Amino acid sequence: MTEATTLPLRNPRTGQSDGELPVTSAAEVAALGVALRRAQPAWADESIEQRCQRLSALADALAARREGFLDTLLADTGRWHESQIEVDGTIAAIRRWVQQAPACLAEKPVQQEAIPFIQTQQTWVAFPVVGIISPWNFPLMLTLIDAVPALAAGCSILAKPSEVTSRFVPLLREALEEAGLGEVFALVTGAGATGQAVIEASDQICFTGSVATGRKVGEACARRFIPASLELGGKDPALVLSDANIEHAARALAWGSFVNGGQSCMSIERVYVEAPVADVFIAALVKEAAALELAWPDPKQGQIGPVIAASQVALVRNQLADAKAKGARALTGGELIDHGGVWCPPTVLVDVTDEMTVVADESFASVLPVIVVADEAEAIARANNTEFGLSAAVFTQSPERAQRVARQLQAGGISINDACLTGMVQTAEKQSFKLSGMGGSRMGTASIRRFVRARALLINTGTASPWWFPAA
Ligand code: NDP
Repeated sequence: MTEATTLPLRNPRTGQSDGELPVTSAAEVAALGVALRRAQPAWADESIEQRCQRLSALADALAARREGFLDTLLADTGRWHESQIEVDGTIAAIRRWVQQAPACLAEKPVQQEAIPFIQTQQTWVAFPVVGIISPWNFPLMLTLIDAVPALAAGCSILAKPSEVTSRFVPLLREALEEAGLGEVFALVTGAGATGQAVIEASDQICFTGSVATGRKVGEACARRFIPASLELGGKDPALVLSDANIEHAARALAWGSFVNGGQSCMSIERVYVEAPVADVFIAALVKEAAALELAWPDPKQGQIGPVIAASQVALVRNQLADAKAKGARALTGGELIDHGGVWCPPTVLVDVTDEMTVVADESFASVLPVIVVADEAEAIARANNTEFGLSAAVFTQSPERAQRVARQLQAGGISINDACLTGMVQTAEKQSFKLSGMGGSRMGTASIRRFVRARALLINTGTASPWWFPAA
C-alpha cells in the first residue's frame, strides 16, 4: 500500500474539509534528523547568551505575525479568545526563558576537592536532536513549550504537531528562518507514522498527548534507550469543602472546566462537594454555566468554541449517553449541538456514580460531573481513586485545611482556591503522577536540565596513579 502524501484539513466550526496537509515521509524525516544532527554542534558551541538572542528574535518574529497565527489557530481549532491567550502566552514564555536560561545552565568554575591534587568541573552536554510530538488542543504553545528551553540548552529540534492542527507550521517556519533558527529547528507534518519516524531520528522525545499514544511512544523510546518526557491525560478533581467561598468556587470551576471547551489537559473534570454546601454550590455552578455562550456564529462572541477533533465527538456523545442511561441528570447542556461542526454546551451533571465513563475516563469536553460526599476524607479518597494524577483543585477558606487536603492529593499541581493555575503560572516545578506522565518537570527553571546530560571533568594536577592504592 502506498503511503498518503497529503491528509485532509477539517474546519471544526463547519465540519467541512477545506484544505490539505502535506505528509512528511519517514525518509524525509530521517534526512532532516541527519541535517539537524550536523548543524547542532555549532549551535551548542555558541554561548547561551547568543542562543538566547536568537530566541528573543523568535519572540519578535512571532509577535510580528500575531494576526497570521491567530487566523491559522482559528481555522484549526475554531476558537478565538483562547487562541489569543495561546499566542501571547507563547511569546511571553519565550521572553521568560531568554531571561532565565543563562543562569540555569551557567557552568561552575573548577572545584578543588578534598584531595589536594584533584579538581573537578561540572559541565553540561546538550542532547543533539530533541523530538517534539504535540497534540491539537493548544497547537502552537505545546509545540514550543519544550522546544524553547531545549534550544536554549543547545539542542536542535525536530517537531511534529498534530495533523488535526498543523496550519500554523508554514508561518512558524518563516518565523524560525527570520530568527536565524532554520537550521536547528525542523517542522514535519503528518500523523502517527510521521511521529514514529521522529522518534527514530531523535536522541530524546518530549511527547504531549493521550495515555494510549504516550505508552506507544514510551515503548519506542525505551527500545532506542532514549529518554522520553511524557505529558499525558488527566481527570482532574476539584474538592469544594464546607467552608469554601461558594460563589468564588463556582465561578473558578465553571471557567476551569469549560474554557477551551474543556479541551485542556488540566481541565477540571470532576467536582467533589461536601454535603452541607452541595445544594448552594450546585445552584451557583449552574448559574455560572448557564451564563456561558457558544462562540457561534461569530467566533469573537461567546466563550465556548467547538469540539476541535472529529474523533472526540463520538467519545463525548457516548459518555453523555452512558451517564444518562445510568441515571445522571444534566442541569445545563447535556446534548451536543450540530452546526456542521459540533459544540458541547457547558454541561453540569448530577446524580452521577463512579461506574459512569464520564466519571472514570478523560472527557476532554465541557462536561462537569458533580458528586456529593459526606466529608473531607471521602472527597480525598474519591479524588484519588483514578489512574490519572495530573492536577487538582481545593476550595476552602482555611489555609491549614487547604494545606492538609492538598498534600493528600495524588497529583503534581494543586490549585488552592482557584482552578487550572498550572496553565497560567509556569514557574513552579511539577511532575505528573500515575498514568498522567513520566519524566522531569516541564515547569520551572529546572525544566531546562532535561535537555542536557551532566558531564564531570575529573582533573589530576599532581601525584601519579595509582595514588589511591595503599602503599605496600
Ligand atoms: P494523541 O495521543 O492522539 O496525539 C498526540 C500526538 O501524537 C499527535 O501529534 C499525534 O499525531 C501523535 N501520534 C499519534 N500516534 C502516534 C504514534 N504511534 N507515534 C508517535 N506519535 C503519534 O493526543 P491528542 O492529540 O488527541 O491530544 C489530546 C490528549 O493530550 C489528551 O489526553 C490530553 O489530556 C493530552 N494533553 C496533555 C497535556 C499535558 O501537559 N499533560 C497537555 C495537553 C494535552 P496525530 O494527531 O497527527 O495523529
